Amino acid sequence: MNLSHRRSQLLNHLHLSHTHEIELSERFNSIVLEGQVQTWDQKVRAGWKAASWGYHGVVNHLQVPEIPEETIPEPAITDATLEGREYDVCIVGGGVIGAAIARELSQWDLKIILVEKESDLAVHTSGRNDGMIHDGFAAPPGTRKAHYNVRGNRLWEPLCRDLDIAFHRPGSLVLFPARFYRLLYPAMAARARKNGVDGWEYWSPRKVRALEPQVAGEQRGALFLPSAGVLSPYKATLALAEHAVENGVLVSLNTQVQSLEREGNRLTHIQTNRGTFRTRVLVNAAGNWADTLAAMAGDEYFSLHQRRGTDLVLDRDTGKSQNHILSMPDLLQSNRMTKGGGLVVTTEGNMIVGPTAFEAPGREDYSTRPEEVTLLAKHLRLNKALDLSQVITYFSGVRPCTYDEDFLIEPSPQVANLVHVAGIQSPGLASAPAIAQDVGIMVVDILNRVMEVKPRASWHPRRKSPLDVRALPIEARHTLIQDHPSYGAIVCRCEEVSEGEIRDCLHTAVPATTLDGVKRRTRAGSGRCHGGFCTPRVMDIMSSETQTPLESLTKKGGNSWICRSRS
Ligand SMILES: Cc1cc2nc3c(=O)[nH]c(=O)nc-3n(C[C@H](O)[C@H](O)[C@H](O)COP(=O)(O)OP(=O)(O)OC[C@H]3O[C@@H](n4cnc5c(N)ncnc54)[C@H](O)[C@@H]3O)c2cc1C
Repeated sequence: MNLSHRRSQLLNHLHLSHTHEIELSERFNSIVLEGQVQTWDQKVRAGWKAASWGYHGVVNHLQVPEIPEETIPEPAITDATLEGREYDVCIVGGGVIGAAIARELSQWDLKIILVEKESDLAVHTSGRNDGMIHDGFAAPPGTRKAHYNVRGNRLWEPLCRDLDIAFHRPGSLVLFPARFYRLLYPAMAARARKNGVDGWEYWSPRKVRALEPQVAGEQRGALFLPSAGVLSPYKATLALAEHAVENGVLVSLNTQVQSLEREGNRLTHIQTNRGTFRTRVLVNAAGNWADTLAAMAGDEYFSLHQRRGTDLVLDRDTGKSQNHILSMPDLLQSNRMTKGGGLVVTTEGNMIVGPTAFEAPGREDYSTRPEEVTLLAKHLRLNKALDLSQVITYFSGVRPCTYDEDFLIEPSPQVANLVHVAGIQSPGLASAPAIAQDVGIMVVDILNRVMEVKPRASWHPRRKSPLDVRALPIEARHTLIQDHPSYGAIVCRCEEVSEGEIRDCLHTAVPATTLDGVKRRTRAGSGRCHGGFCTPRVMDIMSSETQTPLESLTKKGGNSWICRSRS
């Protein structure tokens, strides 16, 4: 079909007249859409339609009135720290994907830098998700999402042991609220088999009642997926990055890639707000900005669209009412772009309800809409022990999606030393260790053409987490406090975080430098009072421990100062 036929098809699909200004062209085996449409919804639907034509990628430059093209926010600082340096590998993006790749590559004797534009890791999508290590049942069979999810699921448990962070494997129950769902069980089992999901079985209504007594309503049985797990997504990202740093990787925060220089088909220089440096290979793990980074490399052959999702967080200990992850069947059926969400008990014991999924512009727009919260509140009814009074907060995250709705993980077809890891929507967290393994092979393969790559002789396979005093048995806690009284001085009363733990997190391999950074590492401030009581105390400790004036401390870097001096 030629481009003019495709254009007509597209206009019909969008119910637009044939005089409408939309142009189609081809570039790098991809299709490029330009011109104007009336709504964001039309823009996204145009991209999906174009993806059905079988091109390698879809570049969607359609404009929507009053929705400007987004540019990366200005960096907060400028200096020359990285000027003139040389690296073998530069990884762009300090989310779980970049961190997992950095750790994987640290096993090789290479000079590696991970750059992140924010003042901490896991600030964006990797710190704004459900923490579920999906079983792999929901991803469409044959996709990269299904493949990496199942592999990643198997890798996370031993990896968490090495990283010294918590991993729970409660398994997931997809409930059958009506007889009809029971009839779908053979098709569900066939899908699980196709995806290679580890173990699944039908649970009778009696078994569901016995093993999940708080489930509300008359359930007609359930599909049980025992491999589903859960971890703390920000602790996992930090642990991966810290393990990489302990094995020689440099993590450079507040470092934004602003442009890329090429000689022929190779990238040579990376220009950032902290200086220009060279790299032999660049890994694009820039999350919601991965298409922007590809464009900087003169390699724009895919675009991302954003799918926001909202979650509710319930009081700690609500998790005690539930033994498994519970899926909400009506959501599961109604929205093909989400795995449907559910009730997930976090490793800390809170219940997370969600996520929702809706298309909206805004790569870093984390606003929440009342209708999302209302939608999720209805699903609290799945567990008889839950109600709205237990909600302590809600948050949104933004999934970076390609128009073919699959991960894009490959060496660039155009630029010899660039690897893209883009469109890592859900189940990106679950897939991260498997993605990192494959990207590691791709990078070493590229490097082997220009240098000898040897294993790092001094590689340490294990990392030690800072103390989590609340998790210690009571006797061990007493002994610790006797020897080190600061672990007995409770600063955050909601989450029982001690002064000693706050001091510790300011001295790890990737230390906290902001109030949010302390919260991510210790949970101080993440309880019901949202830091109302502990914020001044945490700031005092940060100030004295790092010799930083109070007025220089920020909530999340940049100019997010918390207090001002009187002068
Ligand atoms: C609501 C919600 C719930 C989810 N639940 C789950 C779940 O339960 N299980 C699961 O498996 N997946 C889940 N996901 C998906 C998962 O969170 C993502 O797949 C994953 O976090 C993506 O990680 P990332 O590293 O690619 O992106 P990010 O975490 O966004 O990291 C990319 C980083 O790149 C940085 N960056 C961008 N441009 C530049 C630049 N020019 N210079 C320097 N740095 C740059 C950004 O600042 C960012 O920190 C969920 C997603 C959402 C939104």
